[in-house]
Amino acid sequence: MKQQRPIGLRLAVTAALAMLPLANVAATERTPQAQRVLGRELLQELIETDTTPDHGSTTAAAESLARRFLAAGFDPADVLVVGDHPLKRNLVVRLRGRGEREPILLLAHLDVVEARREDWHFDPYKLTESDGYFYGRGTSDIKGGAAGLVATLLRLHAEKIVPRGDYVLALTAGEEDGGDNGVQWLLAHRPELVEAAYGINVDGGGPEIRNGKPAVLSVETAEKVYLSFTLTARNPGGHSSLPTPDNAIYRLAQGLSRLASYQFPLRTNSATRGYYKGLASLYSGQVAEDMRAAATEPQDVVALARLAATSTYNNAQLRTTCIPTLLKGGHAENALPQMAQATVNCRVLPGEDPAAVEAALKQAVADPAIEFARVAEPMPSPPSPVNPELFARIAEVAKDMWSEIPVSPYMSAGATDSVFLRAAGMPVYVFNGIAYDVDDDRAHGQDERMRVESYYQSLQFNYRLLQAL
Ligand SMILES: [Zn+2]
Repeated sequence: MKQQRPIGLRLAVTAALAMLPLANVAATERTPQAQRVLGRELLQELIETDTTPDHGSTTAAAESLARRFLAAGFDPADVLVVGDHPLKRNLVVRLRGRGEREPILLLAHLDVVEARREDWHFDPYKLTESDGYFYGRGTSDIKGGAAGLVATLLRLHAEKIVPRGDYVLALTAGEEDGGDNGVQWLLAHRPELVEAAYGINVDGGGPEIRNGKPAVLSVETAEKVYLSFTLTARNPGGHSSLPTPDNAIYRLAQGLSRLASYQFPLRTNSATRGYYKGLASLYSGQVAEDMRAAATEPQDVVALARLAATSTYNNAQLRTTCIPTLLKGGHAENALPQMAQATVNCRVLPGEDPAAVEAALKQAVADPAIEFARVAEPMPSPPSPVNPELFARIAEVAKDMWSEIPVSPYMSAGATDSVFLRAAGMPVYVFNGIAYDVDDDRAHGQDERMRVESYYQSLQFNYRLLQAL
């Protein structure tokens, strides 16, 4: 189900942003040297532990981190490595608080996407520091986030800082491969371990760098719902030397071309309205006006249509999308096709009824002979309500770290493990303190990297934020 790390706010809507690969990410609050050393050591350990689904093991990473928590004096009852699959276990650690609030879940996944040595300029399974960046598979998705959370809990514990309530750290398996060994396993088998008022998932969002410093801190509060269909046209077939007027490939192609001209209705939700509200101040002219319109209700469909037309990203924010992604058909070069099939992948706005999406698709295809089947049942993912207290605390810490910047909710067109927690009724906020360039997203790709200073700053951001919540 999981396809990609959600991309952050795409600020480059109207103009390409200049890349600032060596710009200094200004911060006013420094991370202590000892914490930088610990953070680097943890990051290196995680990057150099192979946790790919096919030839790695999250268990190895979980056990080695567990040993650190135990060595630091955590109660063994609060440091658990759990899971059924011997190579795909999870680490759950509880930092005890004063019991003045419900626990807060801190989530990151340990597994990473495959990386082939020959595709990279560096060894993907070695931590390399070069030109102000950390390179390695998982640096940005999301071992930097995982290592940062570990470093922060160890520091709070070492400094005998007792937070208002418990923090439950869950470092999980099965996010990238769509397996059920991670968050799904915890919810199914050990739900008491991850019970919390809400979750903070570091697998997305965070401060976006513009002109060398963070300009906005994005917090993902909603995700689109993943839903795929197969569309199949069938025919008795025959010898290709004797073509019949009714042909499965033509039939499917005609249905698909009718689908190509269909667009789902434009809609906003709490996440997208908050997103455009924050973004409008960074733009001018018609786009800014349309963003302001998109931030308010009732909806101005004309403004939404203009905004959706400015970029594929805005289009995906404002409507459900369905698009053919796979095609197969026929069984021999010299035979009439007995079957032609397309896979259509939809990203449904949260709250929209999958049955209504299916009905709209059928109406657009307008051929009852084309069979529809769902590839898998969708996992509903209700948007998490914007949490004013959390957002205010994030803004305060961000202000001390960098400057006064908007903290903006957004909806991801992709999916994270938050979907399972949200479906189980837990609000989840996806963000971290690792400042990043919007135009330099290498998650799952070649030469994946993270700014060195951004990583070190995130350690201080975490340290401050976890004391504020
Ligand atoms: Zn991820």
